[in-house]
Amino acid sequence: MEETKGHIHPLSRTMDEIVRIFTELGFEVALGPEIETEHYNFDALNVPKNHPARDMQDTFWIKGVKETVLRTHTSPVQIRYMEKNNPPFRIVVPGKVFRYEATDATHETQFHQVEGLVVGENVTMAGLKWTLEAFFKKLFGNDVKIRMRPSFFPFVEPGVEVDVSCFLCSGVGCNVCKRSGWIEVMGGGMVHPNVLQAGGIDPRKYSGLAFGMGVDRLVMIKYGIEDVRLLYAGDLRLVNQF
Ligand SMILES: [Zn+2]
Repeated sequence: MEETKGHIHPLSRTMDEIVRIFTELGFEVALGPEIETEHYNFDALNVPKNHPARDMQDTFWIKGVKETVLRTHTSPVQIRYMEKNNPPFRIVVPGKVFRYEATDATHETQFHQVEGLVVGENVTMAGLKWTLEAFFKKLFGNDVKIRMRPSFFPFVEPGVEVDVSCFLCSGVGCNVCKRSGWIEVMGGGMVHPNVLQAGGIDPRKYSGLAFGMGVDRLVMIKYGIEDVRLLYAGDLRLVNQF
């Protein structure tokens, strides 16, 4: 009988690679629970009750357990870590997150994020740009460029969307980057003072930068996979290609 070998799933492989790069940049890995309280998932992250920003995320609430959710992002780990550690620190948080939404080629109810948090004295947007440039050069090669566009997320101020130059067409324009030469890969910004405070850190003394990326989308772009559901179908024909 022919021997079959195990394969590492492209999602796991990419998560591992991202985490390895950040550890090379001096980050420590932090983990947190997938079942979260409303406090850690929303309130402590400056997403107040009845705030329109809370509608941005459709949430799985746990039946019969008050104020408990499947975490909608890895950001609650920021608060949990800040509560237990004194700055300066640099952490990276890989993990599964959940959204209550209809599934299609680009949406799954479960997906993966990697989140980063740096807190210290004199942490600035320039630090964010340097960190992300260093990261993407290691991930996609030295020629990659990044750009930031102003954006809104309740837990950062100011907030940015981060684009990388398309690594498939080197910025010339192709179907993946919709002829723009840029691919949106991440959100980030300076940690909102309310979030630092919720984590027990004095925002007058310390500042922080944070960023988060959806890993599934990166995997799809990198490997040319057109339907996110294939990543979770458990079909060996997919996995055996990697
Ligand atoms: Zn392109």
